[in-house]
Amino acid sequence: MSFRPPKGTDDIGAPESNRWRDILRQWDTWADRFGYPLVMTPIFESTDLFERGVGEDTEVVTKQMYTFTDRGGRSLTLRPEGTAGVVRAFLDSGARGAWKGAYSGPMFRHERPQAGRRRQFWQLGVEYLDVEGPAADAEVIELGYRFLSAVDVPGLKVVVNSLGDTVCRPGYMTTLGSYLEERREMLCDDSLALIDVNPLRILDCTVCAPVLADAPAMKDHLCEPCAGHYGLVKKSLDGLSIPFEEDARLVRGLDYYTRTAFEYIATQLDAAQNAVGGGGRYDGLAESIGGRRAPGVGFALGVDRIVLASGKDAGSQADVYLVSETGPENALIAASGLRLAGLSVDFDTEGRRVEAQFKSASRTGARALVVLKGDGDEVDVRIGGEREQMGLDAVPEWLGDRL
Ligand code: AMP
Repeated sequence: MSFRPPKGTDDIGAPESNRWRDILRQWDTWADRFGYPLVMTPIFESTDLFERGVGEDTEVVTKQMYTFTDRGGRSLTLRPEGTAGVVRAFLDSGARGAWKGAYSGPMFRHERPQAGRRRQFWQLGVEYLDVEGPAADAEVIELGYRFLSAVDVPGLKVVVNSLGDTVCRPGYMTTLGSYLEERREMLCDDSLALIDVNPLRILDCTVCAPVLADAPAMKDHLCEPCAGHYGLVKKSLDGLSIPFEEDARLVRGLDYYTRTAFEYIATQLDAAQNAVGGGGRYDGLAESIGGRRAPGVGFALGVDRIVLASGKDAGSQADVYLVSETGPENALIAASGLRLAGLSVDFDTEGRRVEAQFKSASRTGARALVVLKGDGDEVDVRIGGEREQMGLDAVPEWLGDRL
């Protein structure tokens, strides 16, 4: 029996998981600050939802879904992304008018595994539905930017583009299609396969980059309302002092985007997996899964990539390690008191020698030490270079100022 997890998946434990916890906590704080309540949808959905919602000819749907038939004969799929499920849940709820939801959880895609590309990976995301104004797009982009900055993604860059809408995009696709058609012999096989299906998706092919350098850009073919919308999104980002770049070749892999598309790039990661997140506006998605018209905008961020990019010290599990000269039963009672007072505390339950307990303390990286002495209620508290004797009851307040 092998104990390895399935290919493309990982077990994540301490100390790396301390970093994950920190990121997930900060996510809750920021989503809350921007007014996004938690929305939880099933990890599997009807296969049909993703075929219609993500796009039947997208790579995600054609090559990457974990699809199975359940005992009732239904075709179900482990969710490859979060948006389609959240939009379905929104439609099912019957809600009307501006609606916000934030999600956090595992997604599944059968990809070729490599660093930052896993078969089970964790996304954080928001969806803002039944809203059309460019301020909504800017608010969503801002939330992702503030959060990623708060969790210290270094070299963070926001890249934006507009993909137009059903009015201006078809014309642009024809123009782009003829440009590519004329250069057929210079395109890679993957791009050739897309030329009649969706030439837009050829734009981000790295192999074909030289052919694409002079390709017509969507932003020069936007209809007036789309151009106005895009202009206001950029103006708002300026107003929020969010640095961004425009990239005419940013198209995103999923079919449902209209108008604004954006990505968050960690410039210090390899180009193949330097997108820590991305999103955009998807005004036609609700209808494409059979619902009413409900324009919306959202993003998804990849936690695996955030962890990879930030490479920050994973931190420690507990703030305080309690060393006991008087046995684990006393330590248990003392730790309980400190925990109830709000400190995070760890100690040795096995009654090992004091020296062994000190070793455990330094291994855990706890920032403070509390030593329970053999002679009564006084404890010895150490943090940084400071050391002080006090009663156990005084410890939470004294340490609270220093942790
Ligand atoms: P997408 O849903 O494809 O727009 O991806 C949004 C973000 O999720 C990406 O920018 C990545 O950070 C992350 N992501 C997508 N696919 C994977 C994967 N297979 N492994 C790890 N992270 C991923």
